[in-house]
Amino acid sequence: AAKRSGGSAYAFFEPHMNAGVREQIELQRDLRLALDRGELALHYQPKINSARGVITGVEALVRWQHPVRGMLSPGLFIPVAERFGLINALGNWVIEEACRQAHAWRDQGLQIRVAINLSVHQLRQEDLVPRIQRALQQHALDPALLIFEITESVAMEDTEGTLQTCERLGSIGVKLSIDDFGTGYSSLSYLRRLQVSQLKIDQSFVQDLEHSADARAIVEAVVQLAHALGLSVVAEGVETAAQRDVLTALHCDELQGYLYARPMTAMVMGDWAANIGRPQGLAFTESVFLE
Ligand code: C2E
Ligand code: MG
Ligand code: MG
Ligand code: MG
Repeated sequence: AAKRSGGSAYAFFEPHMNAGVREQIELQRDLRLALDRGELALHYQPKINSARGVITGVEALVRWQHPVRGMLSPGLFIPVAERFGLINALGNWVIEEACRQAHAWRDQGLQIRVAINLSVHQLRQEDLVPRIQRALQQHALDPALLIFEITESVAMEDTEGTLQTCERLGSIGVKLSIDDFGTGYSSLSYLRRLQVSQLKIDQSFVQDLEHSADARAIVEAVVQLAHALGLSVVAEGVETAAQRDVLTALHCDELQGYLYARPMTAMVMGDWAANIGRPQGLAFTESVFLE
């Protein structure tokens, strides 16, 4: 094994390591520096109220401008951050940056809900809730403006710990959403105990909607059960007008996807929101209005 000088304990290569592992080790080495170097950025994707066509909020999605490899997607580096103990540092930066941006938008007259993705390790982080509270206070934000998305599989792990953290999140006034809903096996009664206020239907169901009666039946059942429990439903990955029409007919409350907008930089997002509904607005495929 060739230990690299000046690197961390992880920075050595074994001949049997495959490209995936090698790549992960290189990425974790670079990721340690990325935060300090300001290489991470948040992009924002709007959520649209299906019945009224107004923007209800945005989801923050992290991006990494790698000095050599260019823009990297979170699907590539979040697992690396989780594996190598960097996810809390990264996640804390995301929380801080999203709150800073929400405040900046408000100063520009754009009061908007921001959704933040949380990973399983963050839920176990001792000081997660006080950190969120500090960020809210520092940027003078109404806690109800923040909604935290945890995936269904994460919600099912370590149910006692998750339950406690979610209770504490609820007690400071932030909202909770279950991401990628339908891919796990959570019971709705458990989600109710988590004090979740929103379910996000996984995009795999949305993709199948047009051609699969099963997918339609599943979405219909999820919406009805969610509404009976007082939860709202968002569909992610909405790409076609046909999907939008089916979801709207099934009373899905909010829609998110490339049909409306791709994730955008904070500046473009601000312009987008300021111009929507106006004839001279930025190019977008659907009419959306600011509430
Ligand atoms: P997610 O939270 O389920 O986010 C939805 C993903 O679908 C995003 O990919 C988004 O860009 C993409 N998407 C949105 N609309 C469409 C569409 O119409 N069609 C298709 N095909 N895709 C669409 P992205 O940005 O690459 O993020 C991937 C995942 O990485 C996220 O899934 C989330 O689990 C995770 N992630 C992103 N940002 C963060 C973060 O700040 N912290 C943590 N812990 N995880 C994050
Ligand atoms: Mg999400
Ligand atoms: Mg999702
Ligand atoms: Mg997803």
